[in-house]
This record gives sequence, structure tokens and C-alpha cells, in this order.
Amino acid sequence: GPAIVWFRRDLRTGDLPTLSAAAGDEVLGLFVLDEALLRPSGAARRDFLYGSLAALDEDLGGRLCVVRGDPRVVVPQVAREFGADTVHVSADFGPYGRDRDDAVAGEVDLVRTGSPYAVAPGRVTKADGGPYRVFTPYFGRWLDHGWRGPAETSARTVSWLDPALSARVPIPRTGPASREMAGERAALARWAEFLDDDLAGYDAGRDRPDLDSTSRMSVYLKYGCIHPRTMLADLAGRPGTGPAAFRRQLAWRDFYADVLHHRPETARRNYDPRFDAMRYDSGPDADSAWSAWCTGRTGYPIVDAGMRQLLAEGWMHNRVRMIVASFLVKDLHLPWWRGARYFMRHLIDGDLASNQHGWQWTAGSGTDAAPYFRVFNPISQGKKFDPDGDYVRRWVPELRGIAGVRVHTLEDGRPRGYPDPIVDHAVERGEALARYGELKRG
Ligand code: FAD
Repeated sequence: GPAIVWFRRDLRTGDLPTLSAAAGDEVLGLFVLDEALLRPSGAARRDFLYGSLAALDEDLGGRLCVVRGDPRVVVPQVAREFGADTVHVSADFGPYGRDRDDAVAGEVDLVRTGSPYAVAPGRVTKADGGPYRVFTPYFGRWLDHGWRGPAETSARTVSWLDPALSARVPIPRTGPASREMAGERAALARWAEFLDDDLAGYDAGRDRPDLDSTSRMSVYLKYGCIHPRTMLADLAGRPGTGPAAFRRQLAWRDFYADVLHHRPETARRNYDPRFDAMRYDSGPDADSAWSAWCTGRTGYPIVDAGMRQLLAEGWMHNRVRMIVASFLVKDLHLPWWRGARYFMRHLIDGDLASNQHGWQWTAGSGTDAAPYFRVFNPISQGKKFDPDGDYVRRWVPELRGIAGVRVHTLEDGRPRGYPDPIVDHAVERGEALARYGELKRG
């Protein structure tokens, strides 16, 4: 009988092992719009998803079948109505996806082939079989373990069916901008551009938000418009520090997925349970600090630039993610999971493993954590990583009249309309250290 390829975080047809697994079959391509996953994501990420679905549908000759509902119910329903023997998927290792897939596997023959990662969670282990808790040794084993070459698949690997299914719904419409930047073709085009323009200088430039020279592939990796195998294969032929540094960043993505796989509760809870005793602020002052942070009105230029980039683009440079996260946790004394939830709503690349563990790393409660006493100074971080102030001026129009590095220090005064600092960094740094000290004493 026919088979189903159920797309989730693999919205492409190239380098897609589920298509190899279904080769020779007549196939229904299925995507389920699941409220449980759509609800926490904001408009920008939903738009990117819909744009990627439209692109995939086009590659399938208009045959992508989109349905709405709880996959536990609708996938078995579609399989019954369609008379499918098998449902092919790429394995999902997130806490929600794993439970969902186990439930569906009780109803249909669910075949998991491949995953969104170069090295799937659980594969790289310490000599005693346990998971790594620190990135650097994980990375060494990850390199030794290695990964497969890209799967040679295309839309023509299987023959797509186009049945009249009762549950079928149209793909939600998006604006032309997200339609253009989404999907597999856009992913491959952006990747080719990055390889030509910025890979060679990646190691030197990756920490500089003003240069904006990182790959911005995170959005495509989020929905699997490209697989990291394809990227690693392209890096392999290229010498130099740029490709090596980029490979290491892709390993961070695998590492955090591995960590969340072994400790699914860390999507919400501290990886290091000592942090459960951390004191956080609450009340009206904390609430107004929170809204100043959310809207980019803290009076710290690099923090405000980052938060405004997040709202405008649904993306933020990695260095600035660390700075604004540190500011929320260590200067405003608010819990990391609040910031993480806000990021998940606004980031197009919002990914539970990388986001929650990026936050926990910054807060000090995570793996391989930044030592608690390392509190980012937002002014010196700004001067160091945005040395001419271009990044701040790009995102904070009130500060455009201030030339050079002074846009970080504002030593000649603040332009009208730009807020005074909502806290004194030196004071809050001391406060953060005192609270961390209480934890250490237990
Ligand atoms: P590049 O520098 O071009 O890196 C290439 C790829 O490597 C990225 O696309 C990403 O897949 C991977 N990568 C790079 N750095 C990291 C990292 N530190 N952790 C995991 N993977 C990494 N990344 C997400 O994809 N989704 C998130 O929701 C997310 N939330 C974050 C929250 C915080 C507080 C922090 C500090 C980091 C977060 N990151 C997240 C990691 C990182 O900031 C982004 O992956 C990166 O900025 C994406 O831009 P890029 O594709 O241009 O990166």
C-alpha cells in the first residue's frame, strides 16, 4: 500500500533520509498544523513556517497535504482514510515531540529515519556510557564520531499522491517577504552566499554584531529547510579557521539537543538544582524593569539595540543574545525562564534546546556554565564588540546623532527621548554576586 511522509522539522526534499526510506512507494506528503506548537510561537516564526510550507508544496507539485489538529488523533485518522501502511518521519528528540511520536507509534507503523542533527542525541557518550555535561570534551568525541554524507534525495525520489482527503486545509497565507526568505531554495541560496562572502572571515568576525557577518542559517535549521549534513559536507573541502569555527558552532546545536534529550525537564527547570534557591525580584519595580527590557528601553545602548533587533527582525546576533540575557538575569535579577519564553515567542529560529540552554549557560545554572562571577558589563561589551557603534545606531534611532564608540558610553549626555539607565550596573553586579554567594554556601 501507499506510505505517508509526515514532515515536521524537515521542510525540504534534498538530503532527506525519510525519502530514501520511502523510495519506490507512492507517498502522501503530510504536515499537521498543531496548536500546541503554534501557540507559543509569535507571528514571525509562524509566517516563516507557512512560507516554508508553501515552498515545499510547490516542490511537491502542489501535493503537500496540510491538516489541522492534534497529531495523536489526525495522523492515525489520515493513515486510516488513506489506507497507508507506514508513516515515515525524521526522529524528534524534544520532550513534546518524543511523547507525541510515542503516542502516534501506538496507532500506526511509525518509521523514524534520521534526525535534524549531524549526530543524533544519545550517540556521543562518555567512556562510562553517560552523557557529557561540558561542551569541549563532547565536541572532541563528536568530531571522532563523525556523521554521514548527505542523502541523495529530491522531490522525485518518491511518487507523490494527491488524494482528496476530507481533513485537508489550505496553507495559511503569508506576506511576500517571508514567502521569499523561507523554504529550501532560500536556505541553499543563503548558504551559498555565506560560503562565498563570509565563511573565510567567520572566526574573526562572528562576535561582531556590527559586521552582521554570521550565516543566519539558524532560521533554516530550525525548520529543516537544510540539514547540517549538507553544510558539514560543504565545509569539509575548505581549509582555514573559518570552516573549523563554523563546524564547532554546529556542534553546539547538537550538544544542546543531546543535553535536553537526557534531561527533558531542563526546558523549564535549572540544569544545576542548586539554582532552585536563587532569589529573584518581583513586584511593581520588577515589572517595569521587565517591560523596559522587552521593549528596548533600559538606557543601556547595546541591550536596547539587541531587544529592538529581536522585535524588528525576529533574530538577534549571538553576542547580543548573551549580553541581553545576562542583563535580565544579573542586572535586573529576573529568572532566565521568563526571558527564554519571551525569546521563544519572538525568535524565528526559536529552538527549545538551544534557547533554554543558551539562557541557562548565561544564567550560570546550565552546562559548562559561565562562572557565576563573570557578569557582563553592557558598556564594555558594547565598546569591545561594536567598536564603532554602528550596531547601536542601526537599531536605536534616538542615538543616531552620536558618532563612534561614544554611543555606548554616552559620556556627553543623553539625547532627549532616550531613557536614563534603569539600574546602576556596578550596584547590581554586587547584588548578583551576593545572591550567587548565598547559593554557593547552600
Ligand atoms: P552562526 O554564527 O552563523 O552559526 C551557525 C549555526 O551554528 C547557527 O545557525 C546555529 O545552528 C549554530 N549555533 C551557533 N551558535 C550556537 C549556540 N550558541 N548554541 C547552539 N547552536 C549554535 N540558537 C537557535 O538556533 N535558536 C534559539 O532559540 C537560540 N536561542 C539562544 C538564546 C540565547 C540566550 C543564546 C545566548 C543563544 C541562543 N541561540 C539560539 C544560539 C545562537 O545565538 C544562534 O544559533 C545564532 O545567533 C544564530 O545565528 P546564525 O545562524 O547567524 O549563527
